[in-house]
Amino acid sequence: MRSWNDGRYPFQAVLGVLTRDWLDQATRRLSDVGVPEPRLDSQVLLAHAMGRDRSWLLAHPEMPVPASVEGLLLRRERREPLAYIVQSREFYGRSFAVGPGVLVPRQESEVLIDLTLGLLSKGARLLDVGTGSGCLAVTLKLESPECDVSACDLSIVALDMARVNAERLGANVSFTHSDLFAAYAGMKFDVLLSNPPYVGDSDELPPEVRYFEPAQALFAGKDGLDIYRKIADTAREHLEPRGFVVLEIGDGMGVAVKRVFSSWCCHATATDLSGRERALVFSAD
Ligand code: GLN
Repeated sequence: MRSWNDGRYPFQAVLGVLTRDWLDQATRRLSDVGVPEPRLDSQVLLAHAMGRDRSWLLAHPEMPVPASVEGLLLRRERREPLAYIVQSREFYGRSFAVGPGVLVPRQESEVLIDLTLGLLSKGARLLDVGTGSGCLAVTLKLESPECDVSACDLSIVALDMARVNAERLGANVSFTHSDLFAAYAGMKFDVLLSNPPYVGDSDELPPEVRYFEPAQALFAGKDGLDIYRKIADTAREHLEPRGFVVLEIGDGMGVAVKRVFSSWCCHATATDLSGRERALVFSAD
């Protein structure tokens, strides 16, 4: 039997099953427990266990399967997020390290990047409030290197992960432990950016999110608006004249968030790939 690891792994026990057949079995197991994309997830898990990418895996349907993949499959069967199992998630074309305690970067948050890039002038100072994995701050620094990017989070676990991502990807971002603007007394920025917690206490969530992702990054009171209210109340003190507040919003929250920011001017909105309004830009006047 041909070997798949080219000696990169000195020894790995293999299961008595070929890649193609394992993928069929794993897809069935994940489908039985309601995983939304069972075939894709099976491929990602097996490719990860073999230290290869998915296209290589699909081109090699008759390789022996490493036994280590079974543990990964069990975790996914229990609905642990795929990104936690493979310890990474793509965001805006780059790979970010993620793990328990850190919100997994979402594709819909990429609209915040394009929207913010359109607002940044040369040398602008930006603060990412509640940076999580650091995906927004790091991406913006790399896409717009002349900007001065700071980022904060209340979670130490998230800040550690964000620092790892910034270092790995070579982004010079200044990270601070802070509850919203608490550590930034007297400091002003040209852009305040945030993907804050916005899930309401009784909103429905998939098991991957509800049981595995950090509650602190998700929940914001009964109606999901608590953090928007705090930002609306305090952001002016930290905004340069003609600065902007850029916010991700939950699906269908546009009207409610605009109401929270009723003393602000809504400067722009942006939609995600499925046409839903997912980001708002406010200016002070
Ligand atoms: N977008 C996340 C979700 O759908 C929520 C993240 C957040 O609250 N900022 O679960």
